[in-house]
Amino acid sequence: MSSQDYDIIIGLEAHIQLTNLNTKLFCSCSNNYRGAEPNSYVCPICIGLPGSLPVINKKAIEFATRLAIALSCEINQSMYFFRKNYFYPDMSKNFQISQYNKAGGKAFADGGNITIKLNSHKKDIILNRIHLEEDPARLVHKGSIATSPYTLVDYNRSGVTLIEIVTEPVMSSPEEAREFLKQLKSIVQYSGISNLDLEGSVRVDANISIKGHDRSEVKNINSFKEVERALRHEIVRQKNLLKRGKKLIQETRHWDDKRRITISLRTKEFEADYRYFPEQDLVPIEIDNIFIQKVKDELPEMPSERSIRLRRDYNLSEFDSDNLVLDKDIADFYEDGVNSDASFGPNEYKQYCNWLMNDISRGLNEQNRKIKDTKLYPHQIVDIVKYINEGKITTKIAKNIVDDMMDGFSIMEILENKGKKRISDEILLQKFSNEVIKENPKIVKDCRVNPKAIEALIGRVMAKTRGQADPHITRNIILELLNKVE
Ligand SMILES: [Zn+2]
Repeated sequence: MSSQDYDIIIGLEAHIQLTNLNTKLFCSCSNNYRGAEPNSYVCPICIGLPGSLPVINKKAIEFATRLAIALSCEINQSMYFFRKNYFYPDMSKNFQISQYNKAGGKAFADGGNITIKLNSHKKDIILNRIHLEEDPARLVHKGSIATSPYTLVDYNRSGVTLIEIVTEPVMSSPEEAREFLKQLKSIVQYSGISNLDLEGSVRVDANISIKGHDRSEVKNINSFKEVERALRHEIVRQKNLLKRGKKLIQETRHWDDKRRITISLRTKEFEADYRYFPEQDLVPIEIDNIFIQKVKDELPEMPSERSIRLRRDYNLSEFDSDNLVLDKDIADFYEDGVNSDASFGPNEYKQYCNWLMNDISRGLNEQNRKIKDTKLYPHQIVDIVKYINEGKITTKIAKNIVDDMMDGFSIMEILENKGKKRISDEILLQKFSNEVIKENPKIVKDCRVNPKAIEALIGRVMAKTRGQADPHITRNIILELLNKVE
């Protein structure tokens, strides 16, 4: 059996924090724990002291409703929370308040899907459900989890709202998983419920198996970017075991992102081990149609709708518009820019898109920055496009100055500072050309027998102007002057 003959089956459980909430899921402690002194954002509820009573955060219900609508899920309008019992240092109550879609319980919403495109092939990734739960505390290890001599616990994260998105096992490659998470991140951003660029806002568990064999669950993948890497590693590991005639066992593995390997944590626990039972301290949640309709009406345009609109309004290709809408801030920047100049038409729309998605995006990636973190303004790209089209600067010069523009300098400032403006002033070029002709009588003589010798004269004008002379105008001027000399 060659390696291509293995069918891969992947299902994901993505846990995302609703970072745009002000308070935690069941108490009024701040949700914004990042950078805070450890164990300073805690209260009797979120550390589970006896006698404390949780109260549901209504805004969290609204945010979950937004996501459910955006993902086309079916919202369960009547539901209650469950206790998921287990002992672990990150869960001081010894249970996590979560949702359970068995034993009479329901998830927050069922079904839904995200359409991905890979190599211009479309595929619907079907969701099983989404549900709300509280985040456990943060365990801090010194170095790798496998070798750390101790573990610290920070309860600031305990009780922060998580939404879990569970897919059906329908993905068949790490690339599909990557595309799915890219689209999910985009939809979450557009829904306004979370900033998934914040460290620790995302955790993914991946179920992965080779068809016909037991699956493993890779836990604690701490960023969407790491998922593809972890899956690739796990596929190779499982294939190698099969090639050596070993049996794959159902187990939970941990992704060690420092060593980039998965390590066995335990053989898979079963749901019964968690002794799920209804959370009696919280009243059931009722969501009525009026509330759902209101959330729906207020929901902003989603990336897939926006992509269609951008194609229509700015004559962009499907490839361009799909790329452009992925990051809402980039798409907003684009629309602000192209709409700021009334003279822009389809050509300029396309040029603007190219600058944003090629040179600017490359610069952002290299510097690991977001467009919001730069001092680049939408109108600066308008200037680039216009200056190039009017022949005031070359594309090459423009490519060299985009990084400086991100630091807040205008094109004119940069050109003046760097002396990179192309000289197209004919009187100035005539002066330099005359000098060159006087200084190089031998080359002028050569030009009479070999027309190509003119290149040497143009080169000397370029040298005098430090590369700024417009070569086309310079050539015409020198030709004219040579004719006069003759
Ligand atoms: Zn609290």
